[in-house]
Amino acid sequence: MKVLVLNCGSSSVKYQLIDTDERKALAVGDVSRIGMTEAVLSHRRHDGDEVKLTGEILDHQVAIEYVLSILLSKNHGVLRDRGEIDAVGHRVVHGGERFTGSVLITPEVLEMIRECVELAPLHNPHNLRGINACLRLLPGTPQVAVFDTAFHSQMPAHAYIYGIPYVLYKRYGIRRYGFHGTSHLYVSRRAAELLGRPVKSLKMVTCHLGNGCSMAAVKEGVSVDTSMGFTPLEGLLMGTRCGDLDPAVILHIMGREEIGLSEANTLLNKHSGLLGISGVSSDMRDVETEAEAGNYRAQLALDVFCYRVRKYIGAYAAAMGGLDAIVFTAGIGENSPIVRRKSCEGLEFLGVRLDEGKNRVMVRRREGIISAPDSRVAVLVIPTNEELVIALDTAEIVSKAGVQREVVAPIGE
Ligand code: ADP
Repeated sequence: MKVLVLNCGSSSVKYQLIDTDERKALAVGDVSRIGMTEAVLSHRRHDGDEVKLTGEILDHQVAIEYVLSILLSKNHGVLRDRGEIDAVGHRVVHGGERFTGSVLITPEVLEMIRECVELAPLHNPHNLRGINACLRLLPGTPQVAVFDTAFHSQMPAHAYIYGIPYVLYKRYGIRRYGFHGTSHLYVSRRAAELLGRPVKSLKMVTCHLGNGCSMAAVKEGVSVDTSMGFTPLEGLLMGTRCGDLDPAVILHIMGREEIGLSEANTLLNKHSGLLGISGVSSDMRDVETEAEAGNYRAQLALDVFCYRVRKYIGAYAAAMGGLDAIVFTAGIGENSPIVRRKSCEGLEFLGVRLDEGKNRVMVRRREGIISAPDSRVAVLVIPTNEELVIALDTAEIVSKAGVQREVVAPIGE
């Protein structure tokens, strides 16, 4: 089956056309700077052919139209006809408590996704825009929503309830949801394969360290706790997000700096994290370079980052009552030997021993085990592949017997 996987952000659309039988991407690309005059479409075909186009792309629908035309183009395309796209799989950030797995998009599902906008006003509207655009551009092609929150939906209540009046959970759905679910799912399954053990027999901590960072405690294949919360702001230090913070700090800053809700939101989401502490950059590569050159604040940002990862590994080992494997993934997790080493430092008491030689060479989408042969806990690096999970889920749902194919009308955004 050929599945078009779409991930729509505020000003970008990332896409992959995946052949699910071969588990292979036929084409990969993204449209960035949507809404600006100089939008860019970058497209790469499986045989290495690459093209970059620049122009005015005003909204997500126009962006997806461009994506479809490049997929069909004579010179750079991989399709002869739109009808060759068997289904579309959409990444949807927030599924609230309603969605515990991927679903075929029907009018009712669309309405429920719209209701989840309240929980994720920064993310879900863009996802909805992408779905609406595809309903217009590919009417009758089945579409599936795959939620970032779904893998965490089996967390026990003691892990997701916050220490605030319970009525606020009932009234507004304020609780931990967790994100990056497809990534935590993929790397935990893949780690079990690499270790040659059933996922049901393993207690794992998965560390998704990219621009956004989160960790999950995956016990017997189920996410039982995760570091992001009601929104992706909680937990680890991130590129520009603060992560864990005494909530009173926010109130204090708002008072002292005389700022309102929206400025406070920007401060915590865009000016904090690695960028805020280091004053250098939100990009871990720059922070590492500056730290090496002796920049105190860059070193501090790196130390805080790794200390939190280490603290969560310990916390999750306690939460699960043991630890068999730690998995690193995403931009930093896949490429930074320094972060992996510093995050595992001092964890020998838990049975974690890295093989520094193996750790050092594990970069650029390589996959493997980096712990020493006598380490009780296996440490692995696994490049994440959220698009493959979305494509396979989509194919599975669409090919289920009895799936009602109907033309779904777009919904107001
Ligand atoms: P996103 O969350 O946007 O998908 P990525 O998973 O691509 O982000 O991760 C981006 C992060 O990965 C950036 O902080 C970047 O600095 C970091 N990164 C990429 N390559 C390296 C590297 N070689 N060393 C350290 N950090 C790296």
